[in-house]
Amino acid sequence: MIIDGKIEAKALRDEIKKEIILIKDKMNKIPKLSVILIGNYAPSEIYVRNKIKMSKEVGISSNVIRYPEEVSEKEILNKIEELNNDGNVSGILVQLPLPKNINQEKVINLISPLKDVDGFNPINVGKLASGYKAITPCTPLGCLILIKKVEKNLSGKHAVIVGRSNLNGKPMAQLLLKENCTVTIVHSKTKNLKDECVKADILIVAVGVPNLVKKDWVKKDSIVIDVGINKLDDKLVGDVKFDDVKDKVKAITPVPGGVGPMTIACLLKNTLSCFKAR
Ligand code: NAP
Repeated sequence: MIIDGKIEAKALRDEIKKEIILIKDKMNKIPKLSVILIGNYAPSEIYVRNKIKMSKEVGISSNVIRYPEEVSEKEILNKIEELNNDGNVSGILVQLPLPKNINQEKVINLISPLKDVDGFNPINVGKLASGYKAITPCTPLGCLILIKKVEKNLSGKHAVIVGRSNLNGKPMAQLLLKENCTVTIVHSKTKNLKDECVKADILIVAVGVPNLVKKDWVKKDSIVIDVGINKLDDKLVGDVKFDDVKDKVKAITPVPGGVGPMTIACLLKNTLSCFKAR
């Protein structure tokens, strides 16, 4: 089974759209997402454009607050405080990466945990780790939704996560623990990486190394989720050698068209959740 992230993301967006129509009818209010974009980094421009486009599609109002690369940290922190206190703003997203002169930790810490649509604020990270209700980073949330489309009950499954970033690997591990999986996290210092991967009923790969995972790294009939996005010879490829692996496993996400579309859909889901919680 090839898991079609575009179809699943569209289904999620349709659900969100329906809910926003109902909310609008009842309360005459809609969620609002404010995005801070600093500098002219081309991939960030594309990500933000897509986030705004998709927000509009589901009925979330949005605005982009742009700053030049040389903006001061203080100005950004002041703007975040202003957005934290703005009753019309449901979600705040500061597009990463930030210029060197701006401290990412300070920025993330200042975003109100109630408006933290990326789920990066330590309060949300801690809540997730404690098993409480939390705003969850969008990509791992999208991965979990895709995994559960294939297998509803994950209890007792052995999940192996390749990569331990705050963005992907660590929150993915927390989500799968909550689903009662037995979770192994592996990374660049892991010995015998292949031997760990081949034990996985569910293998999630979030590394950024093209075609790292090959056929002899995966267990027969496992579920493989490829988070990686890499450019190779002008083509986008994942961290998993898709053609090599696809016939051995029960289900696999392609790149592009797998996890990627779910990330933005989950951002919209988080924006709606923040609106409802407040
Ligand atoms: P990251 O912060 O660079 O983390 C990469 C992780 O992979 C680290 O934990 C690193 O280990 C580990 N690693 C690196 N080389 C390895 C190797 N040869 N063997 C085993 N582990 C290795 O990256 P990230 O932000 O998590 O992103 C990972 C990939 O996902 C990238 O390709 C990125 O573009 C993609 N991505 C996709 C989406 C989406 O929506 N589909 C969203 C976000 C990111 P150490 O910790 O030991 O250094």
